[in-house]
Amino acid sequence: MLRPTRPNEFVGHLGTDLCGDLDLELATTQVGQDPERHLSAALLDQRNVAGFGNIYAVDTPFICGVSPFTRVGDVDDLGALIAIGAALIRTNAVRGPQNTTGRRLHLTEHWMLNIKRRDCPLCGGDVKKLPGSQSPWQRRTAWCTTCQRDTNHTIDRGRAAKLLSMHPARHLLDLEQDRPFIGDLGAVEISPR
Ligand SMILES: [Zn+2]
Repeated sequence: MLRPTRPNEFVGHLGTDLCGDLDLELATTQVGQDPERHLSAALLDQRNVAGFGNIYAVDTPFICGVSPFTRVGDVDDLGALIAIGAALIRTNAVRGPQNTTGRRLHLTEHWMLNIKRRDCPLCGGDVKKLPGSQSPWQRRTAWCTTCQRDTNHTIDRGRAAKLLSMHPARHLLDLEQDRPFIGDLGAVEISPR
């Protein structure tokens, strides 16, 4: 196990693997090490943690009720957000489709990234989208301007529990615990609901 003794010690190397022996504490420290960065940019930097693709860098903030643009240093309970992303990524790695909603699990279906509608599926607010050419971190993004305000810094665990209530990733989480990541792949329910 590698633990950094100073910032940037491991630049050029991948971060802890979300699909391997996940060290959530290390992942949280690494993702948060540059507090000025936008949340999604910090998640996508594979030197911080290996495994967040753009679907999860967009949909995990939605599930948690924070903006992709929030400064990562301002996010309270960042470990819970990373745990939720890890649970989705691990589950989908086993199941196949990169589904974040838990509905129509045999399909690739997302809360935010690829939706065509312009209203938020949760609150009905306006969904804003930016192509990669206009996003500060050069990856396309989408967020709800009402329930993902960048002034909201707290992970909403109740919202996450609700939005994951149909997804088998919920079996890897106990959102009432301080350290919410509890599962390994053996806990994933493989058969579609
Ligand atoms: Zn909304």
